[in-house]
Amino acid sequence: MIIFIKAEDISHYVEHQRKNGVKIGFVPTMGSLHEGHMSLINKSNTEHEITICSIFVNPTQFNNSNDFNTYPKNIEADIKLLEFANCDVLFLPENEEIYPAHFEKKYYDLGYLDQILEGKFRPGHFQGVCMVVERLLNIIQCDTLYLGQKDYQQCMVIQKLLSLMQSPIKLQIEPTVREKSGLAMSSRNKRLAKEEAILALEIYNTLLFIKENIKDQSLDTLKNNATATLSAKGFTVDYIEITDRFLHPVLSLDTHTQFVVLVAATINTVRLIDNMIG
Ligand code: AMP
Repeated sequence: MIIFIKAEDISHYVEHQRKNGVKIGFVPTMGSLHEGHMSLINKSNTEHEITICSIFVNPTQFNNSNDFNTYPKNIEADIKLLEFANCDVLFLPENEEIYPAHFEKKYYDLGYLDQILEGKFRPGHFQGVCMVVERLLNIIQCDTLYLGQKDYQQCMVIQKLLSLMQSPIKLQIEPTVREKSGLAMSSRNKRLAKEEAILALEIYNTLLFIKENIKDQSLDTLKNNATATLSAKGFTVDYIEITDRFLHPVLSLDTHTQFVVLVAATINTVRLIDNMIG
């Protein structure tokens, strides 16, 4: 695996590959890699000649400095995992490579996506996500960008970003990889104590319960009961929401409506998100 530290170097490399007609898949991450990330690498590997992974813990998308400072880091293990998965290239930039002195911040008009769910509870988060992804895509001109459904709203935001950028890059969304228990894999799970990890399973159970009972109970009753149950177990619940596939709230469902159930809840200091589509 080739490791690039400098933006200029990886840009030249990618340009050279593209001139030779090589197709490139790109998996941006914040490191502390797990099987969820690896599923994206594997998928890209099957569909492209070259797979590039980036690891950069992006400060501009953290609205909570404690969350940024405690974000798990494990670069040596990450490199081993990427090599094991036959990732071709790792981009491992320092902050100055992504945000050089001349970098100009701009505002991304994400419409309602910036106001709801994660946008509401993490003000500025998606502006920071767009900032880093646009910068990464300018450095790495890939054919396909691979993202995980685990961050459902982020996928929609990036789709919007690609249209704002008038970019030809294809967005490929891959299913959420879960522990055997059902807990969605997440780098933040590493911050959970053993008993907290067991408790975190309640998020998955809640999603499953709502999905299985969605046709039989009113959506408000489902959401209110689920919020009360999680709160009683010690979670601080930011939201439990049922929406259509575009994240518009739904008040009732007919048998044909496709829906997404989304949860964000904190155990002690660890904030977890998950979703399920149906
Ligand atoms: P992160 O490092 O958390 O910023 O995630 C990098 C990419 O991996 C994002 O596109 C995430 O949606 C994706 N991802 C994170 N966790 C999972 C998971 N459990 N299953 C599938 N994709 C995931």
